[in-house]
Amino acid sequence: MSSSQEELLGRLRTGFNSGKTRSLEFRLSQLQALKRLLDENRQAINEALAQDLHKPGFEAEVSEISFLITEINVALNNLKTWMKDEHVEKNWATKLNSAFIRKDPFGVVLIIGAWNYPIQLLLNPLVGAIGAGNCAILKPSELSKSTEKLVSNLLPRYLDQECFAVVCGGPQEISQLLENKFDYIFFTGNASVGKIIMAAASKHLTPVTLELGGKNPCFVDNGCNPKNIANRLAWVRFFNAGQTCVAPDYVLCTWQMREQLLSALKETLETFYGKEPQQSSDFGRIINDRHFQRVKALLQSGSVAIGGQSDKSDKYIAPTVLVDVQESDPVMQEEIFGPILPILTVESPEEAIAFINRQEKPLAFYAFSPDSKVIDAMLDRTSSGGFCGNDGMMHMTLPSLPFGGIGHSGMGNYHGKFSFNTFSHHRAVLLRSPGLEKLNTLRYPPYTKSNLGLLLCATEVKQKGMCTLL
Ligand code: NAD
Repeated sequence: MSSSQEELLGRLRTGFNSGKTRSLEFRLSQLQALKRLLDENRQAINEALAQDLHKPGFEAEVSEISFLITEINVALNNLKTWMKDEHVEKNWATKLNSAFIRKDPFGVVLIIGAWNYPIQLLLNPLVGAIGAGNCAILKPSELSKSTEKLVSNLLPRYLDQECFAVVCGGPQEISQLLENKFDYIFFTGNASVGKIIMAAASKHLTPVTLELGGKNPCFVDNGCNPKNIANRLAWVRFFNAGQTCVAPDYVLCTWQMREQLLSALKETLETFYGKEPQQSSDFGRIINDRHFQRVKALLQSGSVAIGGQSDKSDKYIAPTVLVDVQESDPVMQEEIFGPILPILTVESPEEAIAFINRQEKPLAFYAFSPDSKVIDAMLDRTSSGGFCGNDGMMHMTLPSLPFGGIGHSGMGNYHGKFSFNTFSHHRAVLLRSPGLEKLNTLRYPPYTKSNLGLLLCATEVKQKGMCTLL
């Protein structure tokens, strides 16, 4: 571990130990400052995102800036209530005492962000960390260079430097950073790096949240309106040039529905991005050459039904739809994370459920059907981090829903109150009287049968509906 990192951690630990992060006023002031950072630097943020990902202003506003401002507002509106001690039910032995859950901060936490939504994925966990009273070190992705530079310049100008800091760099810097003991680690990225983070955290028994990705299935039932589905699907798949953890990764439908969808998708894509999507200011680019080569190679699976063009010098891959793809093809072996949508055919909803359940548990699953029984069956008989019926990604617009994966797509969750909970230790507290000793004698030796009976009566929980004489 480097001496500058050690020094930085020492500074934050002193900041935390001073107790300043615990007051409601401090937390609110830091959240307000974070909101000002976003508000006053909208243009610079938009420019950085455009440099890194050719991100359209509309998409930057919806998925990064306004998204964060909503999360901050939810915290500002509710923090006082969330922070309150939560009083709990008591038994006879503790009737005269006070029993509650105290929401304690963990201490100094590490937040590691990914490049695809480089502002949102770094600062949204920070909203939770600040709200819960922690100090935090933020590690932006080194792949989204302009945003990394901007955040590391801006954050110290707005937030308390004794409590919050940005550390830049790649895997080497993170490895050094991870040698330090953090009180919590919040990671967003791919599953292989997630395993490295978890292994490093385990050395210090540090708890983690892992926000990972995977292949999100999408089922389209017969009888759906192809035009509506094409609009909704194309928007979520090609938003941010397909580099979205909750984007539908592949579609399962019957051959008949595939044919209807293909002609509707052709029309939709032309309406969205024109005849030449490369000229559209509403379509993004692949983050770097390595990912460009990776995504381009996936175009070899099955056959191209729509799109398929690419331009290395511009890191451009056209919005593409693949057909005749097999489950064993390369495009089905990894998360696509690019503007490619394979359509695989199944005979029935039953076959789609079996297909989905053969794969790792995804971050999101989308089911489209005019029949609510089919949607219910998809929800009941599969497992995923989140689920949206008859649309994609829209479940993320609700801070009242937890956001996170399951199994291979991650562990833990955040957004809204869930962020506050993630960054809070729920501490069990019982405050007893120093006197009233007579009431305690039941549990002390010498043990007697009658004392045992009375003690159990005072502490046991009876099953509801069972007859009891007490
Ligand atoms: P990335 O390359 O930006 O990596 C994420 C972070 O891990 C970065 O800060 C990076 O510096 C760090 N890192 C990379 N290699 C490392 C190593 N060897 N040791 C330690 N740290 C290392 O992003 P990525 O992993 O390519 O992100 C894409 C993945 O993230 C996709 O799988 C996507 O689905 C997932 N994702 C998930 C969410 C979510 O909220 N669940 C959101 C966005 C992205």
